[in-house]
Amino acid sequence: MAEKRKREAPAPAPAPAVGIDLGTTYSCVGVWQHGRVEIIANDQGNRTTPSFVAFTNTGRFIGDAAKNQVDMNPTNTVFGAKRLIGRKYIDPSVQSDIKHWPFKVIPGLGNKPMIVVTYKGEEKLFATEEISAMVLAKMKETAEAYLGSTVKDAVVTVPAYFNDSQRQATKDAGVIAGLNVLRIINEPTAASIAYGLDTKSESTGEKNVFIFDLGGGTFDVSILTIEEGIFEVKATAGDTHLGGEDFDNTMVNHFVQEFRRKNNMDISGNPRALWRLKTACERAKRILSFSTKTEIEIDSLFQGIDFYSTISRAKFEELNKDFFTKCMELVQKCLNDAKMDKSSINDVVLVGGSTRIPKVQQLLQDFFPGKDLCKSINPDEAVAYGAAVQAAVLSGGGQEKFQDFVLVDITPLSLSIELVGEVASVVVPKNTSIPTKLGKVFVTSKDNQTVVRFTVFEGESASTKDNNLLGSFNLSGIPPAPKGVEMFDVYFDIDANGILNVSAVHKTTGQKNHIIITNDRGRLSKEEIEKMVLAAEKYKFEEEMYKKKVEAKNALEIFAYRMKITIMNEKITAKLPPADKKKIENAIELAIQWLDGHQLVEVDEFEDQMEELKRICKPIIPKSYKGAGVINDDALPLGRSSSSRAAPKIEIVD
Ligand code: AMP
Repeated sequence: MAEKRKREAPAPAPAPAVGIDLGTTYSCVGVWQHGRVEIIANDQGNRTTPSFVAFTNTGRFIGDAAKNQVDMNPTNTVFGAKRLIGRKYIDPSVQSDIKHWPFKVIPGLGNKPMIVVTYKGEEKLFATEEISAMVLAKMKETAEAYLGSTVKDAVVTVPAYFNDSQRQATKDAGVIAGLNVLRIINEPTAASIAYGLDTKSESTGEKNVFIFDLGGGTFDVSILTIEEGIFEVKATAGDTHLGGEDFDNTMVNHFVQEFRRKNNMDISGNPRALWRLKTACERAKRILSFSTKTEIEIDSLFQGIDFYSTISRAKFEELNKDFFTKCMELVQKCLNDAKMDKSSINDVVLVGGSTRIPKVQQLLQDFFPGKDLCKSINPDEAVAYGAAVQAAVLSGGGQEKFQDFVLVDITPLSLSIELVGEVASVVVPKNTSIPTKLGKVFVTSKDNQTVVRFTVFEGESASTKDNNLLGSFNLSGIPPAPKGVEMFDVYFDIDANGILNVSAVHKTTGQKNHIIITNDRGRLSKEEIEKMVLAAEKYKFEEEMYKKKVEAKNALEIFAYRMKITIMNEKITAKLPPADKKKIENAIELAIQWLDGHQLVEVDEFEDQMEELKRICKPIIPKSYKGAGVINDDALPLGRSSSSRAAPKIEIVD
């Protein structure tokens, strides 16, 4: 008799680092493999994944599965988390967003916005970092399914205009998702990497590149110089609150008014109707990028009333005129900040899905006459493409290719220390290349001052009250002396992620006091992050259990119905004694009835039922029957589980 041995498959090679574009509306993941970037399609075959998370009574959906069920479950489907991340609840932009969203956002501890949903019949509160972590985890899973091993390291992108707390919060989201965030990089910088690599071989001398990135929720423009593989960001400008969703919303408002005019009814208080209208508007907007007119048709939009209308490209352009004008103002501002004339720009690169809008392209073309707009990089994928290249550089993949590849990033906002009278004294000017360490000397402002408070701000106003407070710390034990005598060297140390440490050295005594500013503006504590990591693992575990239940149930269901058809086949049952046939028929009916009443019981209960049914049906099971393994993935909350595909196999060898 042959001996049965268990042979474990060799441990899978560690997956390469990935690049993730964590977008407001869509996210995208890429990896450097086989000498090029591959953008990875998700389990639905899509190369971008909606940044949507939905909660239901049975589970959690992320990505396409979440977006596809919004109109049935609008109050528990969360999107646009990137518009909240790292912000305070009272932030005017948060307040304005909340008005448009069907899900609930409330102020939490430290005025952090907290998202309220009903999950498995219970009310749950999620921090924005947790929602973004769920999207990141989905991108991680997408990459793992493709690469066949666990992904740990990632480069994640953020808009260039994200401040320190938004960057920190994005990094925290990565940790909660189980990722080691190698670096946070700016989206336009990532896009420029994609673009720079594309043109590297043909480039001669220095090139000034203008990156115009108009996505779903954010708008970024950057000017970069690219020379022999060195990328330097010269200036950035933008709006963290301008993008395709705003264009959708103006269309929604337009049609809400039209509905009111036609039917004397206001649908603005009905989240489901609003969502359905918004979905139709987004579709119409896309059509208007290649057609000059389109229709909106929504059956039973509100109180049984159908809504049919048309919209022309000209009307769409008129509705969004102010947004487009604002885009062009920011283009000019970026040039002013870089102290450049538009004639010195060599290339204009389009990034982000909204750059497909013809009006946007036309305005840019008019602004930069005679320049071809570069559209060679897929606008939805350019950011992830660049992030994947950067991930390979940082993790040592693709080394030969990147030998002379250096990335110079910048601080998007000036960083300053507050002086008496709320005056901002800039230590690190805006658009300084990072990583950097810059210092400035400060003196006491009062006689016999023994304690000095250093308060750090970011922003461009000369008055700190209009800037963003980053944090503050004290230095005490200063020997009494007349004002202006005691001096302090203050250093601002910014790492490659744009994350800031401020330290102060007491100059006159030579004694060194070193203080690191912790970001206390709503950033999660280490303990909170750890808790969220555990919660994320718990959700994942629950989902896997749920998936197993669905699989076991489907297997039983498919088998029972298959047997029901088999027992009706006279060729198969001809030799079966009538009593046995009756017994099998009863068992099949009982199993089907049992399934009706037991939709999601434990896996072993389904398996017990299956075993019993198989035992009774044995005389009619065809020899060719391999098992009821046909699983309808669409029925599962998270689509196909990547972990099951990626799991190392245990082989049983005879
Ligand atoms: P991104 O954040 O770069 O993925 O861009 C997503 C945004 O691009 C969404 O608001 C989409 O509605 C928008 N978008 C995608 N394709 C088109 C198109 N063909 N015309 C207009 N907007 C588009």
